Amino acid sequence: MPSLSAADSHGVDVDTITAVATPAGQGGVGVVRISGTLAKTIGERIAGRELQPRRATHATFTGAEEGAIDDGVVIYFAAPASFTGEDVVELQGHGGPVVMQMLVNTVLGFGARMARPGEFTERAYLNGKMDLAQAEAVADLIASASVAAAKAAVRSLQGAFSERVHSVDRQLVELRMYVEAAIDFPEEEVDFLNEGGVGQRLAHIGQDLQALLEASRQGVLLRDGITVALLGAPNVGKSSLLNALAGEDRAIVTELPGTTRDLIRADLDLGGLPVEIVDTAGLRDSNDPAEREGVRRAVDQARHAHLVLGVTDLTASNECSVESVMDTEATAFIRVLNKVDLTDLEPGLVGDNVANVVDRGPRELVKSTAVRVSAVTGAGIAALRCAMMDAVGFTAQSGTFTARQRHLVALQDALLGLGRAAELVTRQAPGELIAEELRAVHQALGSIVGETTAEDLLGEIFANFCIGK
Ligand code: GDP
Repeated sequence: MPSLSAADSHGVDVDTITAVATPAGQGGVGVVRISGTLAKTIGERIAGRELQPRRATHATFTGAEEGAIDDGVVIYFAAPASFTGEDVVELQGHGGPVVMQMLVNTVLGFGARMARPGEFTERAYLNGKMDLAQAEAVADLIASASVAAAKAAVRSLQGAFSERVHSVDRQLVELRMYVEAAIDFPEEEVDFLNEGGVGQRLAHIGQDLQALLEASRQGVLLRDGITVALLGAPNVGKSSLLNALAGEDRAIVTELPGTTRDLIRADLDLGGLPVEIVDTAGLRDSNDPAEREGVRRAVDQARHAHLVLGVTDLTASNECSVESVMDTEATAFIRVLNKVDLTDLEPGLVGDNVANVVDRGPRELVKSTAVRVSAVTGAGIAALRCAMMDAVGFTAQSGTFTARQRHLVALQDALLGLGRAAELVTRQAPGELIAEELRAVHQALGSIVGETTAEDLLGEIFANFCIGK
């Protein structure tokens, strides 16, 4: 874990920073946070009294000029028992933008500088208060779009994800020590590696890593959520379906074909998975430029979605084929056969979860699930929700944590490295080569928790935080 003094030489400031920690706009309370060596002095000047650690004190806030700025509560956290690990002062005033700005200006006037986005959390990381995966979880918790995502982010923040990474890394370190010891005895090296069960131990670490990768995939889904596009001919019931899934009247449902010209979005919670669902214009041939633009946007939206719901009307025939306009390779696809209430058919998954085969033009046939629903009565909607989770590989398990795409990349790199090491062992390759691969695996795992993370990547991660965090 880098310390501030180590960070110093890399150009990280250790001076006193400040920012408004609460959202912009009006609110009952607004908080100005100060962190650094001058925090206590500045806090005492503004509050006009000496501050005791961890004591909330009522005070009149004043600046260099005469007259009160605000009347509020001040709390001082002495280093290292604070969020950043430095002296921190929080000024809790009235949450108006002008008051907050006046307070910040006063703090700046007393020698602090504006904090960069994420700089408080960056300092917490640099001071060893949390590792990098935990620091990322702070931002993920703030941005979480569902209760399940928030709970998972808290688990990451508390170190659940980092602990899984460390647990794999510990096994790896032991193995590395063994392999490197073997290198020191070239005569017996091969026997040493065979007898030590290096191959089996590698396989065991590989299994743990694979399980961690799978859990992290769930964590990424929880953190990032998915987008779902509704695609189909006019009047098949796309808007009604969006409302049925979102559980409220978001889209305007009318009987005129082509009403949903523009895109309508709704957020919903699919068993904890945050979903942004987009209702697109009906797919049909039209000379109306506005409607054609709508169709173009619909197809574009579908190409970028994680999942497409191709909606058809069970009572209609000769509709524009949804598949004919789709050519995304990565997109999961579900056929939604709507208006089942007007037929004698059973709602729910078609057949015994038999995959329908959908012809998507030049590419191979793609399997897709079909579900019969009624957007009006709600029949089959629960089955559709399950099918949607299945389609994107989301399993609503408890005990998950949030993870990020960069973590997946690091875990995949680590798995590849392990695979290469295992192959070298099988080929009875020299121990140095095996050790080299294991070093790279350790490096990849270390980048997740910030032990071996490149400096520019660190900058990028914290730059995406909000100011004041
Ligand atoms: P869109 O153009 O695809 O968005 O279709 P709408 O959602 O506007 O629906 C077109 C018409 O079909 C409306 O009159 C809806 O009430 C009706 N409708 C939609 N879904 C169903 C359904 O499941 N059952 C029945 N009976 N009518 C439906």
